[in-house]
Amino acid sequence: MLQLYVPLNFLGVMYRELKQSLVDVDKMFTLLHSEPDIADADDARELVVKDGRIEFKHVDFSYMENRQILHDVSFTVEPNTTTAIVGKSGAGKSTLSRLLFRFYDIQSGEILIDGQSVKDVTQLSLRKAIGIVPQDTVLFNDSLGYNIAYGRPDATPDDIMAAAQAAHLGDFLKRLPEGLETPVGERGLKISGGEKQRVAIARTLLKNTPILIFDEATSALDSHAEKAIQSAFDDAAKNRTTLIVAHRLSTIVYADQILVLNDGRIVERGTHAELLAKNGEYTAMWAAQQDEQGSIGV
Ligand code: ATP
Repeated sequence: MLQLYVPLNFLGVMYRELKQSLVDVDKMFTLLHSEPDIADADDARELVVKDGRIEFKHVDFSYMENRQILHDVSFTVEPNTTTAIVGKSGAGKSTLSRLLFRFYDIQSGEILIDGQSVKDVTQLSLRKAIGIVPQDTVLFNDSLGYNIAYGRPDATPDDIMAAAQAAHLGDFLKRLPEGLETPVGERGLKISGGEKQRVAIARTLLKNTPILIFDEATSALDSHAEKAIQSAFDDAAKNRTTLIVAHRLSTIVYADQILVLNDGRIVERGTHAELLAKNGEYTAMWAAQQDEQGSIGV
């Protein structure tokens, strides 16, 4: 019984964390009261990820009647490539990642992973295949090591240390006399937003999922913290299919594909250079961010 309880309990916590990290809390409560639960189909199969190709085909979606959020959204994320989603606040960026997890069902169209519809596979297998680095990671009142390993209870201290190093937490750990044993969370060491995101990256590295979502923090981080997260994430993204919900365009210059969302529609797509050449919405966003940073040109 205990054997079953531990993973189920863990999944419950994970689910709450994921949902919280992607939906703001007020909205989440409204939603919990109004939304029918998403259930597995009677004949749901396990998702089998061979290559890790993600496809959105003509997706229409609304959270509630009379307000369509996504309009005919189609795109493909090829295996082992990175796609970034950009656009104004409220454009529907995070909604795309929630739909990939099937937190909601779409009204029309299809969302496929390696040709399997997210509606036809078990939610457990779907959520096991996708790692997420949320904007704000929940830390438990436990050791740093526990917080990194949560998601892989069988991880050895060596595995945990390797994941921490790979997530560029090595220098941070060196400054802590108790290392991975350091208590963190509300009653322990307070760690910064940037370090928390690297803990989340270490977690996903331990989970070793073929698909990775990075929900970039909206709040500005200092440039040192940002660089540390960026390089940790770039390493984690290698050999994985990756979706980045981006707020700072400087972090996605090297993405294989950038989708510009406006009011739930993809209005531009391409690489950074291709989009700048179009001189359209992306170029305007890029120029505005350059102005904010007080730098000139590209
Ligand atoms: P941001 O950059 O501010 O995070 P976003 O582009 O990620 O924005 P989404 O969070 O995807 O935007 O939201 C798209 C639209 O859907 C917004 O108008 C938002 O108010 C609405 N929305 C988001 N979550 C819900 C919900 N649970 N119920 C109803 N409407 C929602």
